[in-house]
Amino acid sequence: MVKCGLLTIIVPCYNEEAVLPETVKELGTILENLIKKGKIDPASKLLFVNDGSQDRTWRLITDFEKDFDFVTGIKFSRNFGHQNALLAGMTTAVAYSDMMITIDADLQDDVKAVYEMVEKFNQGFDVVYGVRSSRQTDTFFKRRSALAFYSLMKHMGVDMVPNSADYRLMSKRAVTALLKFKERNLFLRGMVPLVGYPSAKVLYERKERFAGESKYPLNKMIRFAFDGISSFSTVPIRMIMSLGFLVILISVFLLIFTLVQWMRGAVISGWSSLMISIWFLGGVQLVCVSVIGEYVGKIFKETKQRPRFTIEKDDFTPKFKK
Ligand code: UDP
Ligand code: MG
Repeated sequence: MVKCGLLTIIVPCYNEEAVLPETVKELGTILENLIKKGKIDPASKLLFVNDGSQDRTWRLITDFEKDFDFVTGIKFSRNFGHQNALLAGMTTAVAYSDMMITIDADLQDDVKAVYEMVEKFNQGFDVVYGVRSSRQTDTFFKRRSALAFYSLMKHMGVDMVPNSADYRLMSKRAVTALLKFKERNLFLRGMVPLVGYPSAKVLYERKERFAGESKYPLNKMIRFAFDGISSFSTVPIRMIMSLGFLVILISVFLLIFTLVQWMRGAVISGWSSLMISIWFLGGVQLVCVSVIGEYVGKIFKETKQRPRFTIEKDDFTPKFKK
C-alpha cells in the first residue's frame, strides 16, 4: 500500500467553549472517514491552539485529549491573536505532518471542503485555498466591507486569492517555506501566496457561526485590514507624495487666481482664504505624518524581534515522540 500523508488540522480557539464539542465531533468524523478511505495517515490529528481563552476552552480541550487519541492541544500563556495562533499551530505540527489545514473553530467554513483539499494534496498541490463561493450568511455590511477590502488590496499591489481567508491546506514544504518569513506583523493570507509552489482552490459555502459570537468586532476588523495593507504595501507612502503634488498644484492655481483678482483691483478678503489653506494643509499634513508613523511603528516592532507567541503547554509533540 502507498504511504499516505499525515494530516494535522489546526484550530485556533479564543473563548470557544460553546462550539468546541461540535467542532471535535465534526472534524473527528472527517478525519475518521479520510483514514477509512486510506487518504491520510491513521495518526492524523486535530491540533487546538488555545489562544489565552478566559472561559473553559482549555479544560474542554484537555478533556477531549483524554477521550480521543486524535485530539491534541497547545496552550498559549496569554492571548496572542488569531494569526499567531495559526503560526504556532504550524510551527508545532510541521515536524510530524505532511500536510496541515487551518480552520476556524466556529464551523463557519464548511468542513466537508477538507475532503477536496486532501484530494488536491494527493494530486500534488502544495497549497489549497478554501474560497468562499457565497457569503449569504454574513451580514450585508461584512460582505460589502470584505469586497471593498479585497479590491483595495489588489490596488495596493498585494497578491491575495479573493474571498479566501485562513481556511487552507499547506504541504510540509510550503509551511516550512512560510515559517522562514520572520515578520512580527502577521498577515498570513497575504504571505502564503508569496511562498509559491503549485496551488489550487476549493469552493465552499460560508455558514453562520455555530455558536458563540464573533471575536472580530468592527474595530478589530478595521485594524486587521489596515495592518494587512501597511505590512504588505508601500503604495500609501507613494500616495502621500502624489497628494503632496496635488496640493501644491491646487495652491498654485489659487495663487494665480488671487493675483488676477488683485490686478483687477477686486477686494480680496484675505482672511477666509488664509484660514482655509491653513486648516486644509494642516489636515493633509497630519494625515500624511500619521501614515508614515504607521510604517515607522511597524519598523519599530520588527526591530525588536520579539517572540510571536509563547507556548505554555504542548500536548501535540509528545504524542509523536513516544
Ligand atoms: N481567534 C483566536 N484569537 C483571537 C480571536 C479569534 O484564536 O484573538 C479565533 C477564533 O476562536 C476563531 C477564529 O480565530 O476560531 C476566527 O474568529 P471569529 O470566528 O471570531 O472571526 P469571524 O469569523 O467573525 O471573522
Ligand atoms: Mg467566525
